[in-house]
This record gives sequence, structure tokens and C-alpha cells, in this order.
Amino acid sequence: MTGRWVLHLDMDAFFASCEQLTRPTLAGRPVLVGGLGPRAVVAGASYEARVFGARSAMPMGQARRRCPHAVVVPPRFVLYQELSARVMAVLAEASPVLEPVSIDEAFLGPPALAGASTAEVERFCTELRAEVRAASGLPASVGAGSGKQVAKIASELAKPDGLRVVDPATQDAVLGPLPVRSLWGVGPVAEAALHKVGVTTIGGLAAMDLRETTGLLGTAVGTELHRLARGVDERPVAPRGAAKQVSAETTFDADLTAMSAVHEHIARITAAAHRRLVAAERAARTVTVKVRSADFATVSRSETSAVASADLGVLTAVAQRLARAAVPDGGVRLLGVSLGGLGEDPPPALFDPPGAAGPVAVAVETPSAEDPAGGSPAGGTPVPETPVADDRPWRPGDDVAHPAHGHGWVQGAGHGRVTVRFETRTSGPGRAATFAADDPALTRADPLDSLA
Ligand SMILES: [Mg+2]
Repeated sequence: MTGRWVLHLDMDAFFASCEQLTRPTLAGRPVLVGGLGPRAVVAGASYEARVFGARSAMPMGQARRRCPHAVVVPPRFVLYQELSARVMAVLAEASPVLEPVSIDEAFLGPPALAGASTAEVERFCTELRAEVRAASGLPASVGAGSGKQVAKIASELAKPDGLRVVDPATQDAVLGPLPVRSLWGVGPVAEAALHKVGVTTIGGLAAMDLRETTGLLGTAVGTELHRLARGVDERPVAPRGAAKQVSAETTFDADLTAMSAVHEHIARITAAAHRRLVAAERAARTVTVKVRSADFATVSRSETSAVASADLGVLTAVAQRLARAAVPDGGVRLLGVSLGGLGEDPPPALFDPPGAAGPVAVAVETPSAEDPAGGSPAGGTPVPETPVADDRPWRPGDDVAHPAHGHGWVQGAGHGRVTVRFETRTSGPGRAATFAADDPALTRADPLDSLA
């Protein structure tokens, strides 16, 4: 084929997977992310919970009735944003044409794949999934096809943890039998209208007369859906240009061993990325530093600020701080800095704080990735986690630290006692221990420490 290829990458059960990654006791178990208040809704459900019919955006009470043995943990957006930034950094490196759709989802239009064969696309996507897994520890599904619609449907068909490349020659056969609701833009109203005339599949819609479709759905929607159903989809990836992320990196002829040299190079590389940022008239909320050690191990660290910044001094300081935390003991072979506007606005509260009587919280696993163009000057304030008063009682899901046992999370609390499971991403399933709730050895910990 001579046409383009569009890829759609979607993390699998993203929030729940982040919890299972950093709390190994939860791996392989049904997990519901969300609150327990009367109005709480499910923000994320692991595949083990979905088997029982629990779903994102379902009222938590209903999900727990369907899956009573599920572990319920409150969301930790700081963690999800960090892992999202690592994934997006991999995608940005794989393809300069990148359109993040949400915290865990993006379209890619790799120029390298123009005119590629199906086998070449499969190789590219297999490598991409492996790189995402290496950088984040998380499973992702990838779909590929001639346009965004097909790519998105393909990634859905690939789930979980799979790859589906839809060759243009077989595209109609793949799309045809799918319910018409799988098409973008077909909501309940359009679906009902189509069902009324006996059209239930994409193939059925494609076979309709165009005039009949526009008569049913209106000219604009009818024309667009009729084209999509027939596999005609020329919408570009990243229509707003390539300013979602700018980056620069350098591979050194001789490995760097001194921290002062690392700082110097980070400043230079940040300045290079910053020039692209300024040229694109953008401001960055996320700074990511990539460090490859002499033995080719690659570590990425990112930080997302509440406000976008175009200030070179601010961005350099963040990059240098991240580099300090990421530099290995041996030498440094490669340094990279990327500046992204991919950070999320703090999502709406997903569970009712005690005593709150606000509107029903809306849980979405994919908060908007819309990125304030231009942005405001200055920045550097980390996005706040759910604000936590230091003196409030322990609650299930809290991150804690203990001088002897290390990092852990609260499994249960009450009656003056608190039970903590001590584990992190690399520790394997940990042991639980029970303490007096006011034991001074237990302190609140940064959720990001669970990535250690
Ligand atoms: Mg997803």
C-alpha cells in the first residue's frame, strides 16, 4: 500500500493497572478505583473486576454488589500522571506526529510508516508496546489502520494487552459486522434512528444510500458517518501541529561521570528544547528527563506543574532536579529533556470527602487532555493530590512510610488500629502489619515512592 498508517495506543484499565503495578498484592485481583461515599463512582476497574460486570463510571455501590470481593482503593492521580508522562515520552520519541487524546490514550502518525507493509507496521507496534512496558511497567493495546477511526476500533479489538493491525484490504470485512455504535459520533440518538430503519452494523450503514443517511441524521452528521462507515477517514493526527511536546537529547562520545557535567548538559539540552517551545508559542506543564546509563538502562523522570511555564530558568531547574534523582552510579551515556503540555487539569473529585454534599461526582478514566494554549507564565507548583490534612485519621489506600518496614499502604483502619501492607513496585507482594493508629513511626508518604 502507499497510504498512511495511523496508530492508536490505549493503556489497559489504566488507573487499576497503576495500582496493581505499585501494590503487587493487588496484581491479578479485582480492583476498583474510586471512593466509598454514597455518591462515589468507579474511576477505574481492573480486568479481574470487569469479568463480574464492574465498569468505569458505574456507581461504586453497584460495582461492589457485582464484585463484592473487589479491593477498593482511592485514586492517586499524582501516580497516574507520572506514569502517563513516561508513556507519552516513549510515544513522542517513536513518532513526532503525536496526538494525545487523554491521560492514557494517543494517536500516532509515524512518518516512518508511510507506505509500510502490514508486517512492517506489526514490527513497529510490537516494539512500541515493548518500549511502553519497559518505561512504565504497564500493558498497552495498540491498533493500526488507514485512519483514526479504524485505528481506534482496532485497539479496542486488541484489548487487553494486544496488537491489531487492520490492513486496508481487510478493513471492510473487519468493520462491517461491528455494531454501528462502535463508530465515532454514533450516540444513542443516531443509533436509535438507524435501528428504526433496520441498520444495526457498520456494514449496514455503509450499504445505505447517502441521501437516505443524510435524511435520517442530517447533512453534516449523515455525510460524515456514511464516509466513516465506508472506511473513508482522512482526519489528520495532531491537527493542531506538533507542539504537544518538544524535546532534545544528546548521546555522549564518552560517558559523563561528574554531576556538574550532567547539570551543564541538562541546561544546554533544556535550552534547545526551550527554543522549540518558544518557536511553537507554547508553554510546558510537564518536564521529563531521560537518562541512559553506560549499561544502556534508561530511566525517565517527570514532573507536572499546575501551571504551564515558558520560563527557561524554571524549566531548567526542574530538569536538573529530575536529573539528580535519575542519574545512576556508573556513567551517563545519553541525556534527554522533553517539555510537554500533556498534563491534566486536576480531575473532578471522584469521591465525596466526608460531609460533602456537592453534586454527583463524574468519574472518567480519560479526563480531557486539552492543553491551555500559550499558558500562563511561571509555575513549578506540583499538581496537588487530593488535599490531605496531616492530622486526619488513616484511611484505606493512604501511602505510608515506616523506618523499619519501608513504604506501604493502608489496607484497613478503625478502632484505634491501622493495618499496613508494606510493598512497592519492585518488592513483590508484601507483608501486612498492624499498628496503633497513633504510632509515631508511621508517617504519610509520597504516592510516587510506591514506584521504587
Ligand atoms: Mg485506556
